Amino acid sequence: MNKKSFISKSLLVTFSFAICVGAYAQQKEYPQPERMKPGMSEYWTPQPKIVTPGTTTKAAALTAPSDAIILFDGKDLSAWEGAQGGPALWKVHDGVFTVDKKTGDIQTKQKFENYQLHLEWCVPENITGTSQGRGNSGVFMQGLYEVQILDNYNNETYVNGQAGSVYKQTPPLANAMRKPGEWNVYDIIYSAPIFKEDGTYRVPPTVTVIHNGVVLQNHTTILGTTEYIGFPKVRKHGVGPIVLQSHGDPSEPISFRNIWIREL
Ligand code: MG
Repeated sequence: MNKKSFISKSLLVTFSFAICVGAYAQQKEYPQPERMKPGMSEYWTPQPKIVTPGTTTKAAALTAPSDAIILFDGKDLSAWEGAQGGPALWKVHDGVFTVDKKTGDIQTKQKFENYQLHLEWCVPENITGTSQGRGNSGVFMQGLYEVQILDNYNNETYVNGQAGSVYKQTPPLANAMRKPGEWNVYDIIYSAPIFKEDGTYRVPPTVTVIHNGVVLQNHTTILGTTEYIGFPKVRKHGVGPIVLQSHGDPSEPISFRNIWIREL
């Protein structure tokens, strides 16, 4: 056999072998991951320490700075729309708006990347329910990453799902809840991810959350989407809206006021 013929025969054998291995791999049955349940990604200890936040007076309420985009100033939901399309149908009254659980999530019409977000939320004084079923809402960065909103005043839940958690990922550093009936303030600083060509993070998203003047998240890396069941998912995206969650828990709905954002 000459050298050329030997090389081509060797290549043919190698190629055929690769096809056989490939076919075998396709036929072979591998174990599949076990089906995940919600409780598999929830943990309850250690509970964050309880910190009594400073008090506020009406005169000291923080109004929007001059370069902020006003998302809600007490008048209407013109900056918002239904997350599934159509207008935002939550109820505006007395300078605030209240979640309407029948009409679904709402989101900003404008989409954002890096920002400082201020929003205030209030749990009804007569709130009932326990754990996740008490004043559950949430604010989603770019529509994908939830910072939890929940009434955790004398109400324990899994710590990676309590107020100020990056939901099912990172518990807050403290519990700085005000009593039901009092207004809670979130100041959130968010940096959007930068993606590689293959859709994974070159730079992951990060978030800092200050709740009533107390730091709950300190430049926390977000691992991916905040899933109720299963692991965070990484998927490529661009700018996205701020989404407010209409959660199906049976408790009395919470309200929001004074929402503004500064792009960074
Ligand atoms: Mg929520």
